[in-house]
Amino acid sequence: MFMTEKIDFLILGAGVAGLSTAIKLQKYGKILILAKNSIKECNTYFAAGGISCVWGEEDTFEKHVKDTITAGDGLCNKKVVEKIVSDGPGRIKELIEWGLDFDKLPDNRYNLAKEGGHSKRRIFHVKDLTGKAVLDTLYDKAKSYKNIIFREWQIAINLYVKDNICRGAHILDRKTNEIYTISAKATVIATGGCGKVYLYTSNPDIASGDGIAMAYRAGATVANMEFIQFHPTCLYHPYAKNALISEALRGEGAILKDTNGKPFMDRYHKLKDLAPRDIVSRAIDDLLKKTGEDCVYLDVSFKDPEFLKNRFPGINETCLKYDIDFTKEPIPVVPAAHYCCGGIVADTNGATNIKRLFAVGECSCTGFHGANRLASNSLLEGLVCGHNCGQYIGEIMNSLGPNNLTIPDWHEGSISDSNERVVISQNWEEIRKVMQNYAGIVKMDKLLKRAWDRLTLINEEIVQYYWNFKITSDLIELRNLCTIARLILKCAHARKESRGIHYNLDYPEKANLARNSTVRKHW
Ligand SMILES: Cc1cc2nc3c(=O)[nH]c(=O)nc-3n(C[C@H](O)[C@H](O)[C@H](O)COP(=O)(O)OP(=O)(O)OC[C@H]3O[C@@H](n4cnc5c(N)ncnc54)[C@H](O)[C@@H]3O)c2cc1C
Repeated sequence: MFMTEKIDFLILGAGVAGLSTAIKLQKYGKILILAKNSIKECNTYFAAGGISCVWGEEDTFEKHVKDTITAGDGLCNKKVVEKIVSDGPGRIKELIEWGLDFDKLPDNRYNLAKEGGHSKRRIFHVKDLTGKAVLDTLYDKAKSYKNIIFREWQIAINLYVKDNICRGAHILDRKTNEIYTISAKATVIATGGCGKVYLYTSNPDIASGDGIAMAYRAGATVANMEFIQFHPTCLYHPYAKNALISEALRGEGAILKDTNGKPFMDRYHKLKDLAPRDIVSRAIDDLLKKTGEDCVYLDVSFKDPEFLKNRFPGINETCLKYDIDFTKEPIPVVPAAHYCCGGIVADTNGATNIKRLFAVGECSCTGFHGANRLASNSLLEGLVCGHNCGQYIGEIMNSLGPNNLTIPDWHEGSISDSNERVVISQNWEEIRKVMQNYAGIVKMDKLLKRAWDRLTLINEEIVQYYWNFKITSDLIELRNLCTIARLILKCAHARKESRGIHYNLDYPEKANLARNSTVRKHW
């Protein structure tokens, strides 16, 4: 049974970027905002460290811009960095007005933290649960407007783009298994990242890169997908899918050790455990590959237990869930895919190369992060670009009159999938393993080619399933994962150098000319 609905604005994704857009857009018309799972299941909810923002007299926009550009290793767009950094204080003030209670010092000033790569203290945080506080604040604000309609458990399947104009999307209701069509004057993709394409990730299950894959299929330009940031320390446990152990723990003195309890970071960098994120990830990757062990250990058990529990309530709770008392024993950890610096090419208003299609947040590639994201810069980007996108669409779309766009019904495959689930789970596992082992932290051309060959076969199988079988959310995500994996491989193959977080043993040096790797056409 198919249905078509018309709405003014459709927003795919209800994390920091989608909610920020909706709040600013609501005064211009009716908005439908979709989440693939429950509202809480998104990267925003799990953000731990905080939001970077210049505040007070000791810091300046110039310093934050410089730190961001240094991390981005030649690929940041300076104008974009200046815009996002200088819009930060306005967005933070708004969050505070809407009730967000950032941690303060005894003298009532904000307790700004310092993180790797930042030359000043500029990280607003709420203990180590900042993302939850941001999401709760934005969600409460958005719910207060009657023009914003929320729908959870809805997965967008495809965008509908004709004559380079986006007219809306086909959606699967995951509760009823019905497919329906939404036509909208403007569609905003705010679907977050794609960590699930790797075997180990800090990202929740929703992060299968759906928005990037959909936009790519619809003709949007995608760039810099090879720059996947790995977080060095994710909890390693058979039942823990995406539990991040924040870098702030190493900031407080935690030491990485091998299985024999020996510290090893002194062999890799003069800053030892406080070396930059990508160096620590590479060191662990190297040690694990050489020793064949499954994980390394992060030890902070020599610190005062009360201090640890109070400073890191999130980590304490996570570890205890898996019977690990981090105040008494080391935490088993592995590096895990954490953040996608590339994505759908968009400006700071979210505008893409497709008319009426916008992209904001982690799924976008604005030029802010370049070849490596500076810690705590992504919530900032989501807040600023979401805000700008909402304002911009409101201003330009309001003049366009009512929504007269039409979308054809979904073509439903006729064969039931009931006996074929195993094919989906097999391909799902295979993609993630291939990407982890052949296209992870350290790359080589030979391994990239191997990964490409395997993914080409998997892709053929998925395409055949996709058009003949009854569509399910697992199949939708599998197809998107495969597209994302191939986009990463394509961009990685094109980059004949090592830059930022992209490290290829065949080309260990940086090229003289810094360039983005853009992909547009179908292969
Ligand atoms: C563990 C962890 C810690 C982090 N810590 C920090 C930090 O301290 N500071 C910082 O700046 N950044 C941090 N990050 C990164 C940051 O959290 C994310 O980059 C940011 O929250 C992304 O926001 P977003 O709105 O783009 O996407 P998300 O918050 O991931 O939201 C995506 C939304 O899209 C929806 N969606 C996805 N696919 C579909 C589909 N097909 N159809 C419909 N809806 C869909 C999801 O349901 C969800 O609502 C962290 C990330 C992780 C995972």
